[in-house]
Amino acid sequence: MALAYDDQNIFARILRGEIPNKTVLETDHTLAFHDISPSAPVHVLVIPKGPYVSFDHFCAEATDAEILDFHRTAAKVCAMTGVALDSGEGFRAITNAGEHGVQEVPHYHLHILGGRHMGRMVS
Ligand code: C5P
Repeated sequence: MALAYDDQNIFARILRGEIPNKTVLETDHTLAFHDISPSAPVHVLVIPKGPYVSFDHFCAEATDAEILDFHRTAAKVCAMTGVALDSGEGFRAITNAGEHGVQEVPHYHLHILGGRHMGRMVS
């Protein structure tokens, strides 16, 4: 998939250290940080460090190591923030892609939301 990556997007700038973030967890391939405008008591964004625009771009182009690390890190974030199923009440993990998905920042990110009942998704 020939997707152009904008290296001036806000998450690219966070990854370069140009903009601060409240880090939850960082690995060689992945960064997780608190959303600056949380929609729930727990709202963490998990992003790969590589230049991937969206979920589909990431899954098509990232290495197996990056994909595994991303998901293991996301699961650790759920445990660390107290929303994992074995120790908490659960969470919602969502990603927005492109115009119809209403994606604001063109760097792949998974939202982990929890700490309250999230309601049914109706649209
Ligand atoms: O999925 P979408 O692209 O719409 O979400 C982008 C998210 O990035 C928003 O929830 C917004 O609050 C968050 N954000 C952030 N820090 C920034 C800019 C945006 O956490 N500096």
